Amino acid sequence: MARLDGKVAIITGAARGQGASHARAFVAEGAKVIIADVITGAGEFLAAELGDNAIFVKLDVTDRDNWNNVIEEAEHKFGPVNVLINNAGIFRTAPIEEVTEEDYRLIISINQVGPFLGMKAVLPSMKKAGGGTIVNISSIGGLGGSLNGVAYVASKHAVRGMSKVAALEFAQHGIRVNTVYPGAINTPMIQQGSATDQSVVEATLAAIPMHRVAEPDEVSKLVLFLASDESSYSTGADFVIDGGVTASV
Ligand code: NAD
Repeated sequence: MARLDGKVAIITGAARGQGASHARAFVAEGAKVIIADVITGAGEFLAAELGDNAIFVKLDVTDRDNWNNVIEEAEHKFGPVNVLINNAGIFRTAPIEEVTEEDYRLIISINQVGPFLGMKAVLPSMKKAGGGTIVNISSIGGLGGSLNGVAYVASKHAVRGMSKVAALEFAQHGIRVNTVYPGAINTPMIQQGSATDQSVVEATLAAIPMHRVAEPDEVSKLVLFLASDESSYSTGADFVIDGGVTASV
């Protein structure tokens, strides 16, 4: 028996990066996967690669109607949803003095309101399924501060708080809710922008005790564990995967 047999999983932001890696890992372990993302082309391409056990459904995590549509499509194709991975997110930096209100609200809307809407939308389906597991992707930025990251850091701290509240509220329904805090992961999110500046890359690596970034599949192994029944007694808990960055604080 595969580790995710019987699981119907919605993974947001799964068209690329860590979400795509989770989708591949989940299907390989027997799950039915809904690849949910705003990026249509890459999402459909991945669904085709993964075959009958995956579908792509367009989702903007900030849109409540989109969420209802994803749940409907998932139930129609595979049955009630028992796994939700709230992975979609965006990252932008600017000092508080310069960050615009519009940008602040956009980051909060995707990174914070998105997972809230997701947990709310999936609850009836998980109750129908007889239980489930939710994994919310925060960041080590959700555990402390990071220079020029006001909106991102605020949104990721919020993910930590709402996961704990959801864990307390949903335990009675057999639904577990855990939070993952990645450090630097090799995806388009860090491959763009400042990551192309060699001095920034060197400074980032110097701050990581393991002196390397992680590959997405290393995070997938942790997320898969949390999505599976192997983590049956973990809820409301924090799982850090950062090469040791937060060990010294
Ligand atoms: P990524 O940029 O490669 O992937 C993010 C995905 O989210 C993309 O496919 C994008 O289209 C999708 N997305 C963005 N806005 C969306 C929206 N409104 N609705 C639906 N989908 C949307 O980055 P990644 O590294 O794979 O990021 C995955 C998660 O991990 C994010 O929550 C991110 O904040 C978190 N994280 C990443 C790192 C890192 O170093 N890469 C570190 C800590 C935390």
